[in-house]
Amino acid sequence: MLNPKTKHFEFGGVWGAITITLGLGFLIDWLYFGCDAESCTFPWTKQDLLDVWPKFRKGSLISWQAFYAYTYWLLGLLLTDRYISGTKVKGTKLRDGSHLDYEFNGRKVVVLLLATLGFRFWQSDGKMPELVFVYEHYLELANVAILYSLVISTWLYINSFTSLNGKERMLALGGNTGIPIYDWFIGRELNPRIGQLDIKTFLEMRPGLLLYVVINLAMMHHQWLEYGFVTDSMILVNLFQNWYVIEGIWFEQGIVSMIDITYDGLGYMLVFGDIALVPFTYTVQSRYLASHPKTLGWLASAAILLVYFTGLAIFRLSNNEKAKFKSGDPSTQRLEYIETPTGSKLLTSGWWGVARHINYTGDWIMAIAYSLPCGMALIPYYYVFFFAGLLIHREGRDEAKCAAKYGQTWTEYKKRVPYRFIPYIW
Ligand code: NDP
Repeated sequence: MLNPKTKHFEFGGVWGAITITLGLGFLIDWLYFGCDAESCTFPWTKQDLLDVWPKFRKGSLISWQAFYAYTYWLLGLLLTDRYISGTKVKGTKLRDGSHLDYEFNGRKVVVLLLATLGFRFWQSDGKMPELVFVYEHYLELANVAILYSLVISTWLYINSFTSLNGKERMLALGGNTGIPIYDWFIGRELNPRIGQLDIKTFLEMRPGLLLYVVINLAMMHHQWLEYGFVTDSMILVNLFQNWYVIEGIWFEQGIVSMIDITYDGLGYMLVFGDIALVPFTYTVQSRYLASHPKTLGWLASAAILLVYFTGLAIFRLSNNEKAKFKSGDPSTQRLEYIETPTGSKLLTSGWWGVARHINYTGDWIMAIAYSLPCGMALIPYYYVFFFAGLLIHREGRDEAKCAAKYGQTWTEYKKRVPYRFIPYIW
């Protein structure tokens, strides 16, 4: 049977799906109102909350201007997807034995975007009206992105019931309960496509991630226009986060084996995460620094760089080691592993012998380095806590997936590599 009914609920089931949908949408607006040019503190007291209300009424929540701008952004990126050639990659084996073909042109798109921004900077004498627009219409753009997430995921849900070339579509194992709100949230279809366009990889890698870079640049640009200088803290945040995104897109072929692509359906959870949550909450640090400039000095900068490079080394070296091992690279021949019944091998030495998700630990250490340039302000640390929750939850899901896939061999693997994230502690 191609599409068995889902019996196991994740993310707190139906109520979890409803709460997360409402809660995370609210979070974006709340972070915006909690941290603006005047102040940046969570509204704790009743008076603080009352103070938010006038700001809420004053701020334009959504506008046609933002809607058009965001729509042009999406259409422009769709055109680059359609007309710029890329590297052809074969996807991992799906459960019906087939493979999907992908074409990744991220490097060219990144170069095109950066060259366009550089050209516009030169052409407009540094005024960059498009970056000013992003800064001034941030909240409206965020709410348009939320609206798009709702519309896209509803279309995906309805479309998943239609046939594809006369055949049943392949659904995600976790998104076929028959309960509309839950399946809409988790995602029913595994890899929806329109012609050559792979909607999931497009949403994962383009509109949200590239907007993340553009927003960071818009915040740096605003600081420069407003104060006439750019602080070291702003430069560090831009360098750290933009590097993370650009490097991710540069090596984007790696995502074909990620759980998001091979296991999760494409529903509100992923669509919203990709196009709304990432660009409009992960940029909280640069948004804070845009109107609360902070100079760190050499010593503090060096300390933050040390934290960052520690995280980056763990993250990059561990992920590279696994990728090389899986591709049979000779440099990984000395590593120890367990052979599983499916034929794939689980590393038990090197980085993957230290902890079962040491790569997540590295990623999280980098998250701390992204927030440290903001000093003692609380809201920019939202990302550290949110990301910890995301990674812990993700690790639990990955464990469940691997336990089901590898059975007894996974139990054996856990005995050999007993720690999840931090050796001897957790
Ligand atoms: P991983 O790269 O850790 O991949 C997990 C998979 O790797 C498992 O399902 C299993 O797949 C395989 N695996 C697990 N242990 C071993 C082992 N010992 N030896 C060989 N293979 C093993 O997870 P993700 O795909 O979730 O994340 C990739 C990166 O992306 C991470 O560094 C993460 O931090 C980052 N990330 C960042 C996010 C963000 O918002 N910034 C969000 C999500 C992820 P199988 O055996 O089936 O091949």
